[in-house]
Amino acid sequence: MGLFGTSGIRGIVNRDLICLAFKVGVAVGKEHGNVVVGSDTRTSNDVMKHALISGLLAAGARCGDAGVVPTPTLAFASREFDAGVMVTASHNPPEYNGLKLWNSDGSAFGSSQQDQIEEMVLSDSPGVAPWAEIKNVSLHLGAVEQHVTRILQDFPARLKVRVVVDAGCGAASVITPYLLEELGAEVVTLNCYHSGFFPRGIEPVESNLGELMKVVTESGADLGIAHDGDADRLMAVDERGRFIPGDKLLVILAQALVAKDIVTTVDASMVIGEMGFNVRRTRVGDTAVSEELKKGGDFGGEASGSWIFPGVSLCPDGIYAAAQMAAIASRQKLSDLVDNLPAYPLQRGSFRADGVVMSTLESSLMALEPLSVSHIDGVKLDFADGWLLVRASGTEPKIRLTAEARSQPRAHELYDNGLRIIKDYLQSKETVG
Ligand code: MG
Repeated sequence: MGLFGTSGIRGIVNRDLICLAFKVGVAVGKEHGNVVVGSDTRTSNDVMKHALISGLLAAGARCGDAGVVPTPTLAFASREFDAGVMVTASHNPPEYNGLKLWNSDGSAFGSSQQDQIEEMVLSDSPGVAPWAEIKNVSLHLGAVEQHVTRILQDFPARLKVRVVVDAGCGAASVITPYLLEELGAEVVTLNCYHSGFFPRGIEPVESNLGELMKVVTESGADLGIAHDGDADRLMAVDERGRFIPGDKLLVILAQALVAKDIVTTVDASMVIGEMGFNVRRTRVGDTAVSEELKKGGDFGGEASGSWIFPGVSLCPDGIYAAAQMAAIASRQKLSDLVDNLPAYPLQRGSFRADGVVMSTLESSLMALEPLSVSHIDGVKLDFADGWLLVRASGTEPKIRLTAEARSQPRAHELYDNGLRIIKDYLQSKETVG
């Protein structure tokens, strides 16, 4: 198992993780002479950040400390440096922490860059610099103000809108309420303090946002927004207190941007393909969307709440998305926008499966007679009235199954057919084994 998962290095905080932060610091510092670091709001952020900074300095690099900032703010600040490192475990519980590495264009370190850092860390090869080359850390003040200033450029008019901001006690609390007030919004704050803990459940999924939905309706707000711990993600609630599904949010944001070329993941709804955009699909994960946007495109995103605005940076930016959502809600009722978009029934599931050979499974799936098959991530079968995606999880020994169709019975049928074939396949493997 490599050091890097789909979103950087992550783990429960212990001696190994803290020592790893130092080693990663040395490796990054050897390759990049001037590095900015920041953290979200976890209790372990100082110990992790100082271990990281010690490593960077020991390698002879310059280091700027941006303090508590969201990941997109740190990524934006990275343009003045050779690289950036964010201390965060994103939407994981408070006992976790980790590191995300950024290039100066706001893109995450690619796989070859990650491999290089990993090799240096595992071989313990990079030695520390001679004492005379070791520098002191400096404060990098103003990262939040610079990010706010950049976002305000795109929203010159003052907005008449009331917004409830639920930062989940994460890093968005240092920026989103202030940005929206600068835009003219009336802001009601929820979970916008730092305790090192996440009382509402830090992932911005519908089941964690009951309080936000309630406060939106009770306060007569036009919009509710929720971030994850490091605020690269944003999800929203309409003025009727209803959670807006991510696929609809993707369309709403793309339409507001007047985007033509958009990038999304292979598991996003077929609605997106019916709205007149040129759509390019990638494997699941915001890093894949960001990599594809490097080749061009107006906007990209993933239904889990990662929205990328390439005009600002290639990092998913929940803060920019907050400003865009406030602007949209100031122009029209969100519920009208949401209800006017088509919604197709979607069924998702996952189950344990070790050692699946996808090509063998695919030949069984072909019995469903799809119109076409794609291999962007796992196997996706397209039908006239829907699709079925079967893919191996990137982090667990699991198969994930997703089906979407124009009608509920058809979505069930596609899902059940896929499930039956996978179960037969797994059973035959056991028999053979
Ligand atoms: Mg995150």
